[in-house]
Amino acid sequence: MKVAKFGGSSVSNAEQIKKVLKIVNSDPERKITIVSAPGKRHQSDIKTTDLLIRLYEKAIAKLNYTAKKEEIVQRYADIVHELNMDDHILKSIDETLERYITTLKNKPPRLLDALLSCGEDFNAQIIAEYNNSQGIPTRYVSPGEAGITVSDLPQNAQILDHSYEELYNLRNYKEKLIIPGFFGISRQNYVVTFPRGGSDITGAIVARGVRADLYENFTDVSGIFRANPVIVKQPQVIDEITYREMRELSYAGFGVFHDEALQPLHKDRIPVLIKNTNRPHELGTYIRHDREINTNNVVSGISCDKGFTVINIKKYLMNRQVGFTRKVLGVLEDYNISFDHMPSGIDSISIIMRSKEIEHKEEQVLNDIRKHCDVDELGVEHDLAILMIVGEGMHRIVGTASRITHALAEANINLKMMNQGASEISIMFGIDVEDAEKAVKATYEYCYNGKCIVT
Ligand code: ASP
Repeated sequence: MKVAKFGGSSVSNAEQIKKVLKIVNSDPERKITIVSAPGKRHQSDIKTTDLLIRLYEKAIAKLNYTAKKEEIVQRYADIVHELNMDDHILKSIDETLERYITTLKNKPPRLLDALLSCGEDFNAQIIAEYNNSQGIPTRYVSPGEAGITVSDLPQNAQILDHSYEELYNLRNYKEKLIIPGFFGISRQNYVVTFPRGGSDITGAIVARGVRADLYENFTDVSGIFRANPVIVKQPQVIDEITYREMRELSYAGFGVFHDEALQPLHKDRIPVLIKNTNRPHELGTYIRHDREINTNNVVSGISCDKGFTVINIKKYLMNRQVGFTRKVLGVLEDYNISFDHMPSGIDSISIIMRSKEIEHKEEQVLNDIRKHCDVDELGVEHDLAILMIVGEGMHRIVGTASRITHALAEANINLKMMNQGASEISIMFGIDVEDAEKAVKATYEYCYNGKCIVT
């Protein structure tokens, strides 16, 4: 059995929905389909989820929200009319939005989750009804009915373990099933959404629950590129990549697949296939537990993300002091700051974090480190970019790091920091934000075309 998930652009209008259903109906193994809310139909369009946020903002500010609500109803009206469907559902869409606003207006986080869930929920109902009307027995199943029970933290749902047993029962349905992505129901009976982009997470949870042989994730690109196509012209598409590699790449900016979606899959080793709804014949990218490694595919991908801050600390004889790092990290903990990397030497340590973690708190954090940790020197650098070279094969192939640093040196890129974690599947370089694009181009050219860019 396969579970297929279709992202926002795949279900953004009637034409796209027809493509989706052609794919779904062409394979009897595709029994369960997860859908997103209608996404952008063109560059300047607004995602339905974002329209719902605007409606929420108006409602919560006690302003007139009718126009915002009508915009949302109109998105679905366009779909329903183009599919030549009866428009009874539009009335229920309007009523549902009104009901949520009336009943939850005094509980803003709950109202936001309830409204957010509408994007996928209405879409799933329409898609199921349309497929049924085409003679393919199809059923809409709500997350509550499916058994997607989640923790009660608004916009940050976590699946509760017992859900997986319930989800297994979805195998008993004879019809094709359409389930809305992005939310579950808490034990307290609230709608709770996953973080943004969370339909991938629903798909992964359902795939694990029904013990699917494959989780297909359909989007608007033909797989995962080895580097950002905005920076590298026509990069190669990765044919297969491991869960661990994918996690490292998504961390540093690869947005095709939600990193939280890997967790449920990785436990039961359910493979994922990223495919293009508009070009379903193309092979796509497999994400699996293991992959074949040869000298040409040692490095799976290269990513670079901006917006990091680094705290640099120097302390003479630091390596002989017990508990020094713990004290520094204790200060970060006091300010609820999580960090990403911590390269260190015998007398120095650098702590790298996303700038948004520390902004507005920087001065207090530095003062507290000075006060509690007796440091010799303390400095902070902003605008750091993190370049990640990711590849399972690197620990077995001698000289990868040396070749990459050579490519970066030839491109005249100053390496401020370098770290290879214990997993040895990635090498991280801290570089100036101005060098970010150049570094991706230089390492891509070297890894995949064997050329150095000399500047
Ligand atoms: N519709 C939600 C969002 O835009 C979830 C998703 O599409 O995966 O974030």
